[in-house]
Amino acid sequence: MRRSQLLVFTTCYNERENIGRLIDQIIQNLPHADILVVDDNSPDGTWEIIQEKMATCPQVVGVKRPRKLGIGSAHKYALFYAMREGYKTLITMDADLSHDPKYLPELLSAHGPGVFVTGSRYCPGGSCDYKGYRNVISRLGNFAARLALNIKVKELTTYYRVFDVDSLRSLPLHRVHAAGYSYGVQLMYYLRHAGVEIREVPIHFTDRTRGASKIPRAQIVLSAVDLLNLAAKRLLIFRDLEPDTFVHDACSNCGDRVLAMKQRGSRDPKNITRTTEDSRAYQCTSVGNRSYPPVYTCLACGLEQVPESLMPERLELFYKDVVDDTYLLNIDARTHTFQRVFDRIEPYLPRKQHPRMLEVGAYCGLFLKEAERRGWSAHGVEPSTWAARYAREVSGVCVHEGPLSENLAKLDRKYDAVVSWDVLEHVRDPLGFLRECAGFLEAGGMFCFSTLDIDTWPPRLLGRRWPWLIDMHMYYFDRHVMKDMLARAGLELLRTESYTHYARLSYLITGAMRVLPQAIGRLLRPLTRLVPSGVLVPVALGDVKLYIARKTAN
Ligand SMILES: [Zn+2]
Repeated sequence: MRRSQLLVFTTCYNERENIGRLIDQIIQNLPHADILVVDDNSPDGTWEIIQEKMATCPQVVGVKRPRKLGIGSAHKYALFYAMREGYKTLITMDADLSHDPKYLPELLSAHGPGVFVTGSRYCPGGSCDYKGYRNVISRLGNFAARLALNIKVKELTTYYRVFDVDSLRSLPLHRVHAAGYSYGVQLMYYLRHAGVEIREVPIHFTDRTRGASKIPRAQIVLSAVDLLNLAAKRLLIFRDLEPDTFVHDACSNCGDRVLAMKQRGSRDPKNITRTTEDSRAYQCTSVGNRSYPPVYTCLACGLEQVPESLMPERLELFYKDVVDDTYLLNIDARTHTFQRVFDRIEPYLPRKQHPRMLEVGAYCGLFLKEAERRGWSAHGVEPSTWAARYAREVSGVCVHEGPLSENLAKLDRKYDAVVSWDVLEHVRDPLGFLRECAGFLEAGGMFCFSTLDIDTWPPRLLGRRWPWLIDMHMYYFDRHVMKDMLARAGLELLRTESYTHYARLSYLITGAMRVLPQAIGRLLRPLTRLVPSGVLVPVALGDVKLYIARKTAN
């Protein structure tokens, strides 16, 4: 809750020896400021000290993230937090006391509307404790950044900074990549590009006296690559420099309200739009429509998602109306996929007489048919009227139409296993969905499912051309977020592996033609006539994962 116009921010990982003293000294120097501290789940007891401070100092707000999401991401969190809460001024600083809080009043007095201030080791009057190798790297890094980006300031890499929060609102913050230490340089570049005045105030930079330095050497190389990338952009024509449009929706996993735009929706590049309202886009086989949903990253837990306010209002109705004859063209491959998936999960399933299974999102009933063949008593629910009817009348399995919540009376109270294939990324509330599924399990029962993993090479390499970046996918999980989310739902993750789809070779080539640029796609066309039509090939690129989890308790 905002008490002041001024916010001081710091982020820490294993700073038990420094964080308490830092907070005390900030309060001494700026008694009227609010203080935000982000802790990346430090194992050394840092969070406990932050909690003590929160209990005794009402101006301190602490945020504990479930894992180490990185310094750039934490700083980005602070920018969005300051904008959302309506602060006028934001000061950022390191938590290891290398930024002496005695400079805070001086930095603040150099600041004003439309002005950005950085504490500077290298402007006249500034100094730094670094010696030898670290001194050379730091000076070289600043020199290279100054040259590459044509910014006439001496200090680009320290995080001791004062921002006019209003000037942040005009920046394309989604262009500032938060993964590494070069985040600070990128941010300064976009500030200058937006016409913000940059001032330097000399500081003495103290080398940390307690705790260990945490900049890995590989980061120096990665930062150099980022710098070259930024320098190249400076010489090229910019695309997508529109400022971010802000949403304040709660994250579906952790409930925090700091969602940063990652990917604009593609319907109108000037504006964020809802995802499409066309039900054809919600077919299981609608890959290749080349329309992108607006994706935001939760900076508190890492979940990538379409914010609730940008989801189609009629999402559930679309799934009810889906008719998807293309799915049936590839039915032998899909049956084979489910047989192999069953082989993978079978060793984890309870061994008992008359085992019972529930499938949520059973579509045409192909998996349940396999489950029955292996001796399971199986039920399914499926929102699509067309698919549920196919499951009953052609596949010959028990599938009820509609969402889980409308079928409670028709289902058993408890099952030995619940499964759900490629469903979680489609639902409005995945945590609620997981809790609902867990509610149907006996303690010790198994929940097996598949979903997307965005933290893999295909999405990184293909970007917007990644075939699973499509309007009907509301969520883009990774393994770490998934583990966190399962724990919140009372499920313990036992195993994660790549999910293997099988497909006809000709089907894959046709799919690749839709995803690749047209000129390259056309080159593939002759192949579709050459390959034997019945050949099934496994596809396991890692971007879809199979998860096996166990219900921990009732
Ligand atoms: Zn979150």
